[in-house]
Amino acid sequence: MKVRTNYVNDPVWREVTVKSRIPESLQMLQELAHNIWWSWNYEATDMFKSLDPEIWSLVGQNPVAFLERLNYEKLEALSTNKEVLDRINKVYTKFKAYMSEKPDSSRPSVAYFCMEYGLTHVLKIYSGGLGILAGDYMKEASDSNVDMCGIGFLYRYGYFSQSLSMDGQQVANYEPQNFASLPLERVSDENGKPLVLDVPYLNYYVHAYVWRVNVGRVPLYLLDTDNEMNSEFDRPITHQLYGGDWENRLKQEILLGIGGVLLLKRLGIKKDVYHCNEGHAALCNVQRLCDYVESGMTFDEALEVVRASSLYTVHTPVPAGHDYFDEGLFGKYMGGYPQRMGISWQDLMDLGRINPGDSNERFCMSTFACNTCMEVNGVSWLHGKVSQEMFSGIWKGYFPEENHVGYVTNGVHFPTWCASEWQKLYAKHFDKNFLKDQSNPNIWEAIYNVPDEEVWKTRVALKNKLIDYIRQQFRDTWLKNQGDPSRVVSLMDKINPNALLIGFARRFATYKRAHLLFTDLDRLSKIVNNPDYPVQFLFAGKAHPHDGAGQGLIKKIVEISKRPEFLGKIIFLENYDMKLARRLVSGVDIWMNTPTRPLEASGTSGEKALMNGVVNFSVLDGWWLEGYREGAGWALTEKRTYQNQEYQDKLDATTIYSILETEILPLFYARNKKGYSEGWVKTIKNSIAQVAPHYTMKRQLDDYYSKFYCKEAAHFKELAANDYARAKALSDWKEEVAAKWDEIQVLSVDRCAELQQGHVENGKDYTITVVVDEKGLDDAIGIEQVVTYTNNDGKECIYSVTPLKLVKREGSIYTFAVTHSFSNAGSLKVSYRMFPKHPDLAHRQDFCYVRWFVG
Ligand SMILES: *Cc1c(COP(=O)(O)O)cnc(C)c1O
Repeated sequence: MKVRTNYVNDPVWREVTVKSRIPESLQMLQELAHNIWWSWNYEATDMFKSLDPEIWSLVGQNPVAFLERLNYEKLEALSTNKEVLDRINKVYTKFKAYMSEKPDSSRPSVAYFCMEYGLTHVLKIYSGGLGILAGDYMKEASDSNVDMCGIGFLYRYGYFSQSLSMDGQQVANYEPQNFASLPLERVSDENGKPLVLDVPYLNYYVHAYVWRVNVGRVPLYLLDTDNEMNSEFDRPITHQLYGGDWENRLKQEILLGIGGVLLLKRLGIKKDVYHCNEGHAALCNVQRLCDYVESGMTFDEALEVVRASSLYTVHTPVPAGHDYFDEGLFGKYMGGYPQRMGISWQDLMDLGRINPGDSNERFCMSTFACNTCMEVNGVSWLHGKVSQEMFSGIWKGYFPEENHVGYVTNGVHFPTWCASEWQKLYAKHFDKNFLKDQSNPNIWEAIYNVPDEEVWKTRVALKNKLIDYIRQQFRDTWLKNQGDPSRVVSLMDKINPNALLIGFARRFATYKRAHLLFTDLDRLSKIVNNPDYPVQFLFAGKAHPHDGAGQGLIKKIVEISKRPEFLGKIIFLENYDMKLARRLVSGVDIWMNTPTRPLEASGTSGEKALMNGVVNFSVLDGWWLEGYREGAGWALTEKRTYQNQEYQDKLDATTIYSILETEILPLFYARNKKGYSEGWVKTIKNSIAQVAPHYTMKRQLDDYYSKFYCKEAAHFKELAANDYARAKALSDWKEEVAAKWDEIQVLSVDRCAELQQGHVENGKDYTITVVVDEKGLDDAIGIEQVVTYTNNDGKECIYSVTPLKLVKREGSIYTFAVTHSFSNAGSLKVSYRMFPKHPDLAHRQDFCYVRWFVG
């Protein structure tokens, strides 16, 4: 018999999950790892790192993955090491003390909705500025101990990580995240099973798992549809951030808004104020309307209640940046809602249109948000103004500058963005109450008492740290994509820690004008190659995968950086994320930002730089328009000289070069005997003392409370008392006014002859009398005189608005009058308008009925 030479069956595998067993005395590490409080407390991250620096770096500084990776022997050894235990205990004690503080129940509670949250580089659920703002906000809500929770998505792939091909082409990599190794907890139901949230999508349900990130004391709930309960069409809803087509985007926004509110209900969470951060979450108001209507209210009553308790924050300065949905697509998923709300399909569409009834207009999320939120705000003073213009079509009858759109300027979370070296310096020299009172400018004044050398040394230390980091982290990537190893060696050699280091890192959208610096390469080459005043530029940033122009810009910069005259002088660093951002905003000398005004709604990276003694050199746009002080940084003027963008770019570039040559470089290199520049340190101190305190996240949070949340919560409370009595009365009143509006008659407008003919003199009194038949309404009408002028740009603006006083009432006939004089001479326009008035209206745009008349 012939013996077979081979006889093997297939292996049979059984999956085994090895849970990391952690010695009793180290259990607190698990608790610490699962609350991202560690991400803004450097003692905690330092402690984790000290347990095993190599593994810490290997797992990307993720404490959960770190504990998984430490083997049992190692953990046991640690658990008997007194010094280690002391270190852990110290951090744990601080954490427990923090967690045990009772929340501040005097301030209204808030549910915050956002598509992205930038909390730590470990959680890839953010792309850029909007997300980091939301992440910083959650952290500050925890530090300020207010009652808030966040709603967002746990993305399987999140936003892409960036690498570059040899020729500078951006390559987007999407890596799936393993949720079990992230600082998250799965939310369970009453039976201890994973909670499943069912969200209706027209004729079926999408099923979402729910995860919780413990952001200190604040819970952030994340929805996740990537599971077997969903079809292949719905699993990807939470795959990518800003990926997929419009249909997927709509499905995401339904999940965030409608799913978000359903989740809160499921968890039994009720909040005073619902805050839509960007229009993406606006559909939360659809679900809230349904809930009130299903509890027995009419749609109009429900709208009063929902509006009074919602705030919409817009972050985009251009209409094209908003989400619009075709009626067909919108109807495919939202078609069932009007019936539940007791309105028609057209009514729902009209809530998202600037011109109700215009069937060509798509459904705009931002317009819907404006129509269903009592308050709206932009994210800087200038952006507030821009947003008033942008949304003015929704509230016709009022001039843009009259509408209620306000602003809160963005800030940044100090403990997240301030390097530990600076935190220690501040702790040493500032009032001990500093952290709790960090937006108080008086405290920051103490920077002037810090010895110059200490400031300079801290800067130099952080700069060296950044350069070491670059040399270590980017060597391998450069060997891969620079082509020539000798070039990489030469690049490394050329990085000069003594040169003035300028950072430019942000999303590569064309309006941010990363190309500006490269307008005149000869001049730039002269600047960077001046042996007396060496300069280096660091660039970083991702372009959206669909943004060809943004990617072209990256490619161009990479190409330029490879030219011999720019090698080591212009450096592009791949994969801008929070980790790299922290290094950059603390390690460079100058933070540069050159957007096209007014397209930078706020910008925040320059604020992060402030707290690290890094000086800003930016266009007076967004926050810097408010923040800039002479002697505390440099500003590119906001004046627009050319309509033509190319000419304007050339001029701005010339200005950048010359400010560098004549102001920045000479100041930086004006070294005294001790080897530092006194003028530079003075600039740093001015920037820290005069600018930094105004851009903390604490100031931002306090502003949201004082400008919006408190007002809304109080208004809601009034409307809701006694089974919503005032909400119902207000809604009845609006219905009555609306029904009679067209019948209301202006019986006479009595003006003197001069005013009638349009020839008046300034300084002289004129009396105007208007008689109105209110047709049975009870003092529901206000009358005002509106005078306008044409400004230098040819725009019609408000000159004055003068209310007429009610002087007589006979039945339904109301007589209004005012005596008025013009203070200035010139060409003006005069008209009158009638509007409904009621003490429970939050503002005029709350019930935007206006009738103009001249008489
Ligand atoms: C702060 C930050 C941003 C936003 O910066 P802007 O100045 O608003 O452009 C974007 N990405 C990352 C990684 C950041 O840390």
